[in-house]
Amino acid sequence: MEKNWNKHWVPNLHTKAIVKVLGQFLRIEQLRLFDNQVLTMTRRKAKKQKLEAARLRLVKQRGPINPCDPNVVPPVEAIMANPQALSHNNTHGPMPRFYVDQLVQCRQCGKEEVWRAAAQQWWYEVAKGNINSKAVLCRACRAVEKQRKVAARKQHQDGLALKEKRD
Ligand SMILES: [Zn+2]
Repeated sequence: MEKNWNKHWVPNLHTKAIVKVLGQFLRIEQLRLFDNQVLTMTRRKAKKQKLEAARLRLVKQRGPINPCDPNVVPPVEAIMANPQALSHNNTHGPMPRFYVDQLVQCRQCGKEEVWRAAAQQWWYEVAKGNINSKAVLCRACRAVEKQRKVAARKQHQDGLALKEKRD
């Protein structure tokens, strides 16, 4: 009887212990993976912020460049403009020959930020922005403004739908 009890009880105890240890191990592993993820994200963010700050410092040091000035030599990091992609601008005024990072002081919050050359190229050549328009808001304020516009549009559309229902 005593032997039998032992025979059944001991493996059970083992199983329980194994399950417990395994569970703990899995939980620890999960936590470790989560921590690693958070750490990577934080590191990536810190690195991005550092790069952003360095970029801002460089742009401020260099001072403004007028890409429309035919006498200005494009800096090495400049992105050359595609005149064909700018042909939507119905103007005889001078066109930019290239894009370089430019300093923007946000009209709303006053923060200084870099308007990246690639972002300018996208704005003028892909989004077909007017050549006389330029970034006046920082990215954070631009995001808020975008959300505000989306909300306003939705409100307007909801209003129209309601009116249609009533008519
Ligand atoms: Zn701002």
